[in-house]
Amino acid sequence: MENTALDLLRTVFGHPDFRGEQAEIVTHVADGGDALVLMPTGGGKSLCYQLPAMLRDGCGIVISPLIALMQDQVEGLRQLGVHAAFLNSSLDAETAARIEREWLGGELDLLYVAPERLLTSRMLGLLDRVHQHGRLALFAIDEAHCVSQWGHDFRPEYRQLTVLHERWPDVPRIALTATADPPTQREIAERLQLDDARRFVSSFDRANIRYTVVQKDNARRQLFDFLQGHAGEAGIVYCLSRRKVEEIAEFLAGHGIDAVPYHAGMDARLRAENQRRFLHGEGVVVVATIAFGMGIDKPDVRFVAHMDLPKSIEGYYQETGRAGRDGEPAEAWMCYGLGDLVLLRQMIEQSESGEERKRLEHRKLDALVGYCESMRCRRQVLLSNFGEEYLPVEAPQSSPCGASGSICGNCDNCLQPPEAWDATEATQKALSCVYRSGQRFGAAHLIDILRGSDSEKIRQFGHDRLSTHGIGADLDAKTWRGVFRQLVAHGLLDVDAEGYGGLRLTAASRAVLKGEQTVMLRKIVVKRERTRVAART
Ligand code: ADP
Ligand code: ZN
Repeated sequence: MENTALDLLRTVFGHPDFRGEQAEIVTHVADGGDALVLMPTGGGKSLCYQLPAMLRDGCGIVISPLIALMQDQVEGLRQLGVHAAFLNSSLDAETAARIEREWLGGELDLLYVAPERLLTSRMLGLLDRVHQHGRLALFAIDEAHCVSQWGHDFRPEYRQLTVLHERWPDVPRIALTATADPPTQREIAERLQLDDARRFVSSFDRANIRYTVVQKDNARRQLFDFLQGHAGEAGIVYCLSRRKVEEIAEFLAGHGIDAVPYHAGMDARLRAENQRRFLHGEGVVVVATIAFGMGIDKPDVRFVAHMDLPKSIEGYYQETGRAGRDGEPAEAWMCYGLGDLVLLRQMIEQSESGEERKRLEHRKLDALVGYCESMRCRRQVLLSNFGEEYLPVEAPQSSPCGASGSICGNCDNCLQPPEAWDATEATQKALSCVYRSGQRFGAAHLIDILRGSDSEKIRQFGHDRLSTHGIGADLDAKTWRGVFRQLVAHGLLDVDAEGYGGLRLTAASRAVLKGEQTVMLRKIVVKRERTRVAART
């Protein structure tokens, strides 16, 4: 009796129906076609190769970069009664030999292997043998973006996977990824020789995730306030540095939140324990560096908070994509300030990377900053980065204040359309202040000058005698911080990233200084403080 894909989906996996393009992908690959599948995290990629592997003769080989990921998948499959196994460095020789015997004996439907293992001459020889017996069902290349040198998960061995096509051209290949900015897509197709493969691109929209970006002011208090809306819920708080991870975790724990730290510098046992608590506990908040998350499959993560800027939109999308995999409402919240931008610019500039790489990283950061500063629907901006056009769910209603109106209805800019103000005069003051003080100070000091502070540092530099001293006293410091941040974001000021991060004029600044250009900026919404965080931090 022959099983159809739908039968298997129902009887083995217990799902009533296929989702999205799964059915088409499964049929295409089961019929021997090559495929490149771009689907967001949680979209259901695994079934796209698992089912064809079960439908075709022999065993499907799944190349997967992470041992933890393989183990979870295989365990899950075995519980469903699927004959699956993995081969990687975590196995002792005896177990590995047993699995090889099962495989060669035709007992397996799916075999997961790490790329470096697959590329050994021993493994290639075994694959030849299996192939001779017509028992190579397919090759699935999971996390295919690892082939991209520009991505954050680059794995050099992925580049050598062209061997699959060269050595066994008749075996169908399916490459899958949740990272899909168009350049990475092209790179995957090219590097894995999948130019002729059929492409299946799903929408990357995660409708249940609400996106919010707030101006960094008092980051800890802002985080604490945000968490009040998620009491007892599991979530991830991302920070850039290990030290900050420790500090924030301690701060939250000190304020009655069940928070644990996670970063690569921790004692391995404690780290594993914290991960376990997050995965299996109730409402645990993990404070982590981006080392945490790849391969974490926890469906009920209710929020992902960023205390620092991620490095790119793709990174941000991946990290926030860990929220709400169960489809229930979830939040992606980010707290962002000029300091982050200056720091990241410096990190890029002062790294060991070559010039081309640095330029690319600056560009990626620009795109992310564009997202943060945008007054448009966040979802629209995010998806346009993946080459996807997001159209309003319903006809957009023009709001009474003349703002753009709601597009997705589930991001801060849609829910509370931002207002713009004519900041030309403030910008001129800010730019002259930068110029008069010698183009080497950061925003905090410049704001002190503008607001007419007579602190020791101001007097020490003689900045109390500048013509710009005190000319910005009409605006509060918070508004000025917003102004400087946006001027940098919009290219009207530039960060001296090779030095101490001072602000400098740019070519674009001149037009504003000469009064030839007006500047509209986003109005900072000053939110009433909901809670006071005790000073015991
Ligand atoms: P991805 O690898 O794309 O992140 P997974 O393959 O891990 O996603 O699937 C995500 C979740 O969706 C899993 O819990 C899986 O069981 C579930 N899922 C996948 N396909 C279906 C379907 N057709 N119907 C219901 N649930 C599904
Ligand atoms: Zn929106």
